Amino acid sequence: MNLCNVKTVKSLLAKYSTDTKKGFGQNFLINPSVPFDIAEESIAYHSSACSGRSCVLEIGPGVGALAYELCQRYDKVVAVEIDRTLIPLLNEAMGEFDNFTLVNEDFLKLSLDDFLNEHFGNERVSVCANLPYYITTPIIMKLLEEAKGRIASITVMVQREVAKRLCATSKDSEYGAITASVNYYGRVTELFDVMPESFLPPPSVVSTVIRIELFDSCPYDVRDEKTLFDVIAGAFAQRRKTLLNSLSSSIGWATKQQIAEAIEGCGFDIGIRGERLSIDDFCALANSLYEVRAK
Ligand code: SAM
Repeated sequence: MNLCNVKTVKSLLAKYSTDTKKGFGQNFLINPSVPFDIAEESIAYHSSACSGRSCVLEIGPGVGALAYELCQRYDKVVAVEIDRTLIPLLNEAMGEFDNFTLVNEDFLKLSLDDFLNEHFGNERVSVCANLPYYITTPIIMKLLEEAKGRIASITVMVQREVAKRLCATSKDSEYGAITASVNYYGRVTELFDVMPESFLPPPSVVSTVIRIELFDSCPYDVRDEKTLFDVIAGAFAQRRKTLLNSLSSSIGWATKQQIAEAIEGCGFDIGIRGERLSIDDFCALANSLYEVRAK
């Protein structure tokens, strides 16, 4: 079955009395070269980083365009789809594969550790998806925060604007809290753009496929992760203010004087803005401020 053929997709949707749903961020891929290329990028990195049985988790298989390509390349594919009307449709569309498991759940509500153990045992897993745009950031942060050491890479399609933010450096205007946070967990690479005509229905924005290669073990020496993420969030809470002013209005556990001392103690100019700090810089500042917090 050609799951990128518009006629096939429309007749499958009609057969199961369903249609594309905006509320679930449903823009299905209809350009066959796109799921092919995404799956190739995903397995290429996975094979270079992992040994043993190849395992992939897909979030939101839709009508199966990407799932189909993943099943051709991975030993085991588990897909989580929130829309129950797509479950019987996917069971038909993916019927030829015995390495495909479909789970009807809201990904954001899953206990990820339990889920990975149940479906993949202790194998390392890659994640591959054309993400629903309305929850891109929460999905990525859930994967990074809850699945430490279990996930090798995340190859996903996101809005181009989000990709620019994730791939920014501390010299770019797009650099923000999400950039610094993702940099703590892994290395992000921009792969390729996808135009709106490649989807049914076409979204209003250009999309970009990115890959996050997760660190096997954290390369940063951080004394307290909660302090690190509080400092990152606080630094960007008021972007037009200096780091000192933004942090002192958002962090309740240190005085302005203590924050100023920590900033200068790390060798930064007192007038520096949060968007100039790399993840290394944030780690140093968080370690220094942790001394204040722990007292
Ligand atoms: N993978 C398919 C493709 O590329 O054609 C569909 C991608 S579509 C952009 C996003 C998919 O994610 C939809 O099938 C949607 O129903 C599903 N989805 C949305 N929110 C979800 C959630 N919270 N948990 C799991 N799936 C979700």
